[in-house]
Amino acid sequence: MLIGGEWVPSESGAWRDVVTPARAEQVLARVPEGTKADLDRAVDAATAALPAWRALHFRERGTILLRIADALEQRAEDFAQLTAQDTGNALRTQARPESATLVALFRYFGGVAGEFKGTVLPAGDDQLQYTRLEPLGVVGAILPWNSPLMIAAMKLPAALAAGNTLVVKPAEDAPLTILLLAQVMSEHLPAGVLNVVTGVGETVGQAISEHPGIHKVSFTGSSEVGRIVGATAGGRLAHQSLELGGKSPNIVCPSAAAPDVIEATAEGVLLAMRFSRQGQSCTAGSRLFLHEDVHDEFLRVLVEKVSKLKVGDPLAEETDMGAIINRSQYEQVLDYIEDGKSQPGVRVALDMSRDVPEGLEGYYQGPTILAGVANDWRIAREEIFGPVLVVIPWKDEDEVVAMANDSHYGLAAFVWSRDLDQALGLAHRIESGWVQVNQGGGQVVGQSYGGYKASGIGREFSIEGAIEGFTQTKQINVKLGR
Ligand code: NAD
Repeated sequence: MLIGGEWVPSESGAWRDVVTPARAEQVLARVPEGTKADLDRAVDAATAALPAWRALHFRERGTILLRIADALEQRAEDFAQLTAQDTGNALRTQARPESATLVALFRYFGGVAGEFKGTVLPAGDDQLQYTRLEPLGVVGAILPWNSPLMIAAMKLPAALAAGNTLVVKPAEDAPLTILLLAQVMSEHLPAGVLNVVTGVGETVGQAISEHPGIHKVSFTGSSEVGRIVGATAGGRLAHQSLELGGKSPNIVCPSAAAPDVIEATAEGVLLAMRFSRQGQSCTAGSRLFLHEDVHDEFLRVLVEKVSKLKVGDPLAEETDMGAIINRSQYEQVLDYIEDGKSQPGVRVALDMSRDVPEGLEGYYQGPTILAGVANDWRIAREEIFGPVLVVIPWKDEDEVVAMANDSHYGLAAFVWSRDLDQALGLAHRIESGWVQVNQGGGQVVGQSYGGYKASGIGREFSIEGAIEGFTQTKQINVKLGR
């Protein structure tokens, strides 16, 4: 673990094995089993480093972030290879793009470090009334396992650009890329500005939520744990942002299934469902609403494409879909599939859940598509977080908007229509923090990102989000002259 610029074990002396999901039971590494005392030390280090870091000129903080971006870029392939082993995400389709996003976000926040700036009110010649956007202090970042580097990149450079210091807790299932990131970052940062404590959520994560020296908790993970973190951090009135789960609608209108565009739409829906990340994405468009006029034909084209995805070793170049993160997640996904298949009227359009290539001993599972689903079934309401797409037919716009919004989640949405009025009409009516029109994977560095409803509170990703998420405003009113 990295505490105060030193690589240290846990004070308990305990270690935890990190197993690669690509080769079940194969131990990749071991990391310290962090404790509350370790977390306390990390907070002390981050607190000690804060005054000098926040006092740096923004150009210096920005330059450091840009240097880190260059260093990360030089090691981009190392990050991708380690991501594939640590998370099970396939190298070509997921791990390399994630490594590239990491670099892009450090570069972006290095570039905009001067934008954390206040305003001046024209209050008269004898008045100077201005605001300063000051850092919150020590930020505690709690990360999930599904795309650790990308989520870290949404938090760390933004928090640092704004002048905060950090204590980071990686997910217990995938901590290795975060430790490598810390290694590269620490070569460019003053000691204590970044600290990483490995360990389990109930110990280190809980301690982050509770610690009075942590001024903001920036959490990404499940809505279930997000509620606990939110209640604990909220109980002591700490700042917080919660990026949580989703069950995002993916709405196909008839015009998007016309013969000249049906292939492209199906490709886009495949991407939106994040099949190539084994569906382990909070923004997966996992509820597919198909208009009844094009339902059967679109489903046929989609199934044909999805069934060709190659499930395999995440490190192999030809692999489209890697492995599910761990045994319990793997079994839970199978339970959802069985539950869906037992519902009256369900149609199994594709079930490759047990149909994986020979010789692979990880938690591999092919894609599943269940049609004829009702929006109130468990498989349509709960986040499966696996490669399972449910298909629900619709007839008119009011009906599909009502079904799309009848969810406690509201993270992302996808609308497919060649009629822009229709597409934007739907986009504006959907209760989600991020709607994509006619594309499945168009995340852009600097865009707004965050959830409605139980998908989260707060924004961090864009410059506006970073200002909202990592600064606090101080108003200063000065009487000038005599
Ligand atoms: P999780 O909620 O189980 O764990 C997330 C993190 O919280 C881990 O580091 C874990 O150790 C920690 N944690 C667990 N219990 C804790 C506690 N009591 N107090 C504090 N921290 C605790 O989530 P996961 O299984 O790692 O990730 C999958 C979930 O994350 C999915 O629901 C997914 O939708 C969500 N997710 C959301 C986003 C987003 O941006 N909205 C992005 C990625 C993943």
